[in-house]
Amino acid sequence: MKIFKIAYAFFLKEIFFGHLKTLQYFFKKKVTINYPYEKGPISPRFRGEHALRRYPNGEERCIACKLCEAICPAQAITIESEERSDGSRRTTKYDIDMLKCIYCGLCQEACPVDAIVESPNFEFATETREELYYNKEKLLANGDRYEYALRGAIESDTKHR
Ligand code: SF4
Ligand code: SF4
Repeated sequence: MKIFKIAYAFFLKEIFFGHLKTLQYFFKKKVTINYPYEKGPISPRFRGEHALRRYPNGEERCIACKLCEAICPAQAITIESEERSDGSRRTTKYDIDMLKCIYCGLCQEACPVDAIVESPNFEFATETREELYYNKEKLLANGDRYEYALRGAIESDTKHR
C-alpha cells in the first residue's frame, strides 16, 4: 500500500485526474452565461421592480381602493386619493419605499384590476437610498416600459389564478 501511495504521489495522480475532469467538461454544453450580455430565462411569476399599469387608452388602472396598502406586510406602500370631476376615484399619491419591500407579491395578488404589479426587471440597483423611494410617476413609467412583458406574464398565468 505504501508503494502505491508513493507512486500516486510521484506521478501526481490527483493533478492528472483533475485535468481529465476539466477536459471532460470542456466539450460539454456550458451552464454558465456571460451576464450582463447574456441573461437566463425568467419565470412569468418573477417578482422584480414594481410598476403601475395603464389601460390601452392610457387611463390609469389603479382605482385607489388601497387593498395593496392594507395588505403590504412591510407597510411600504402609501396612497392618497381623491374623487375626480367625473366621479371616478384615482390616486394623487402612490409611493413605495423599495427599501422596506420584501418582494412578497401580496400587493399584486390583492389588486382587483392588475394595476400594481412586479415587473421582470431585477436590475435597479442604485447608488443612494433616496432613489429607491418610488413615487407614482416612476411607477407609471415602469408600467409603460414593461407593459408588453407584463401583459404576457399575466396572460400566461391566468389559468392558474
Ligand atoms: S411586494 Fe410585498 S412588501 Fe413589497 S410592496 Fe408589495 S406587498 Fe409590500
Ligand atoms: S394598485 Fe390595485 S390594490 Fe392598490 S389601490 Fe390601486 S387598484 Fe387598489
